[in-house]
Amino acid sequence: MRYVSTRGNAPVLSFEEAMLTGLARDGGLYVPETIPQISADEIAALAGQTYEEAAFRIMRPFIGDAFTDAEFRAIIDRAYAGFHHAARAPLVQLAPNHFLLELFHGPTLAFKDFAMQLIGQLFQAALSRSGKRVTIVGATSGDTGSAAIEAFRGLSNVDVFILFPHGRVSEVQRRQMTTPSEDNVHALAVDGDFDDCQAKLKDMFNHFEFRDAVGLAGVNSINWARVLAQVVYYFTSAVSLGAPQRKVSFTVPTGNFGDIFAGYIAKRMGLPIDKLVVATNQNDILHRALSSGGYVTQGVTPSISPSMDIQVSSNFERALFDVYDRDGAAVAQQMDELKQTGGFQISQGALQRLQDIFASGRASEEETSATIARAFAETGEVLCPHSAVGVKVAGEQPVSATPMITLATAHPAKFPAAVEAACGVHPPLPNRMADLYERSERVTRVPNDLAAIEDIIHERRAH
Ligand SMILES: *Cc1c(COP(=O)(O)O)cnc(C)c1O
Repeated sequence: MRYVSTRGNAPVLSFEEAMLTGLARDGGLYVPETIPQISADEIAALAGQTYEEAAFRIMRPFIGDAFTDAEFRAIIDRAYAGFHHAARAPLVQLAPNHFLLELFHGPTLAFKDFAMQLIGQLFQAALSRSGKRVTIVGATSGDTGSAAIEAFRGLSNVDVFILFPHGRVSEVQRRQMTTPSEDNVHALAVDGDFDDCQAKLKDMFNHFEFRDAVGLAGVNSINWARVLAQVVYYFTSAVSLGAPQRKVSFTVPTGNFGDIFAGYIAKRMGLPIDKLVVATNQNDILHRALSSGGYVTQGVTPSISPSMDIQVSSNFERALFDVYDRDGAAVAQQMDELKQTGGFQISQGALQRLQDIFASGRASEEETSATIARAFAETGEVLCPHSAVGVKVAGEQPVSATPMITLATAHPAKFPAAVEAACGVHPPLPNRMADLYERSERVTRVPNDLAAIEDIIHERRAH
């Protein structure tokens, strides 16, 4: 399996190389050259298997010869051993034809753990074999950072630096990033918003001298391995509801378009998915783009679902690459325009193809709170604000016999203030984290400035 850049102008890489590289050298994102197909019989055979077994069968075709089957199985087993639910990604029912896929039973209580725990094990296996060392730098709107720190803390060949927007993550999210005591973990609070953090990260990748000097590696959803890990639960949940005989639809609370793009890959592999519904909060660039074709940034407005406070959705580029018939030059041109002017217009043909696959909707702050209250009253389920955005948008879709699965992306206890304000319930942290507020914090405040951030990374990483 070979990986190509969405901008068509970077070296073609193996799975392992693409995973360790992150962003392509032409500024693009790596995608598989072809999408492996999974037959209806193979999908049917996933029924009743463990999550780990399903993960092995679904991801195996993408990894080429990076690992033997036995190694890859062991990696997967270690990745999900720390989850606190036997099913890993259980489904609960909200309404007659509406289901919630709970993706928050991992160590940091958000769906990011599914990918990050796997990536931690993949990096460890690859680096201990090669004896190489890497510096992982990640940008986070809250959950990626804690999941990355949890996955990489204490690993011997890795330093991990996380850039998060100062004052714009929840207290639980911040503490999860600032309380780990391992020397290889570095939390950096940037004076800016998430898009600033993500832009600095991209600038670092495009600064080849720095990139090569520190062995920069990325674990944001620009990293293909993360998308791949997330493909698995689309299959397991659909199979639980009768796939491949019965189609399903998914609604996905979306920020960087990574999670929903994994659903798109599942569909391209052959999983019978009817609609993939993009659910955004008031930062609704994706909803506007999918409705009108105009992808125009407007600046981020902080919300009660902070992990989705994003305007530049990196992974959307991967979808564009496909609907532009994998024409890297065309994608590069649109991304240039985005950088120069803050927006671009999706061509009519490409928009049509996107709309055949994706529907979209948005939830205002009031609608999000009202959805938390209603879901609690009707079902007893306490939703986090991100999941509530999904449930609200799912409820607006045309009535259909096709079951809808909404992804519940975080545990409500990560966002206790917003949840309590909405439904009166203070969601407690699980016991294993109950002392989070007592642990001491370690964080460095940094200006929104590339050179300053690079200096800190140079200085702090192990040599
Ligand atoms: C990251 C995150 C999202 C958005 O996921 P994307 O892959 O960026 O679209 C939604 N909800 C929560 C809780 C998250 O942490």
